[in-house]
Amino acid sequence: MTVLVTGASRGIGRALHDLYVERGVPVVGTARAPEGGMARLDVADPASHAALADALGDRALEVVVCNAGINPDKGMALADYTAEVMARTFAVNATGPLLTVQALLPHLRRGRRPRVAVIASQLGSSEIASGGGYAYRASKAAAINLARNLAADLRAEGIAVGAYHPGWVSTDMGGGGAPVTPRASAEGLADRIEALSLETTGVFETWDGRPHPF
Ligand code: NDP
Repeated sequence: MTVLVTGASRGIGRALHDLYVERGVPVVGTARAPEGGMARLDVADPASHAALADALGDRALEVVVCNAGINPDKGMALADYTAEVMARTFAVNATGPLLTVQALLPHLRRGRRPRVAVIASQLGSSEIASGGGYAYRASKAAAINLARNLAADLRAEGIAVGAYHPGWVSTDMGGGGAPVTPRASAEGLADRIEALSLETTGVFETWDGRPHPF
């Protein structure tokens, strides 16, 4: 199988990329500024998706992990929100996964057991809404919604789709005080992705295997 991970330059995406490399699984890591054999992808740029799909040629992908994300409004006061911060956050966190799946669908169709993992967040849960972080939360809620609707549409093609909360992880985004290491998150996510099937398509789960409220 070949796995593709977006946002593999650092953080959870990098840990997931390195885990698959260690396990001998062929993996394509993507980054905005690729190094060390990674492929170029800015998930907010439609032309970048087209170029990646072209570069992959007729390669089959079994797993696409939509991991790239931003959280620019952490701690932002309601008064400070702008249309720009909302649009930029949605472009990366919600439109990004949709464009990635759209562009790589031909490659997934060639996969033996094709699966898509959308790395969302517990902060995207509409049931557990404790306020604030409007751009990040709403964009992740949209990503969870997209994953669920893609699951409905792609089931007929044999492609399973899941949304995942990766834990509160000690990355640049999660901060040094976060309890889950990128490695532990990556190991859990790899287990979830392995377990994802047409029987479970449409799930929203935590990295350690618990169902998450939508
Ligand atoms: P980091 O900030 O450490 O890394 C983010 C990654 O996304 C980087 O590789 C970054 O690339 C990439 N990225 C950002 N914008 C773009 C873009 N336009 N196109 C392509 N890549 C981009 O975050 P984490 O590793 O912590 O987060 C990974 C995912 O997990 C995100 O979707 C995040 O929302 C989610 N998540 C994280 C949690 C945590 O506690 N850390 C909790 C819940 C969810 P570059 O190096 O070029 O900036």
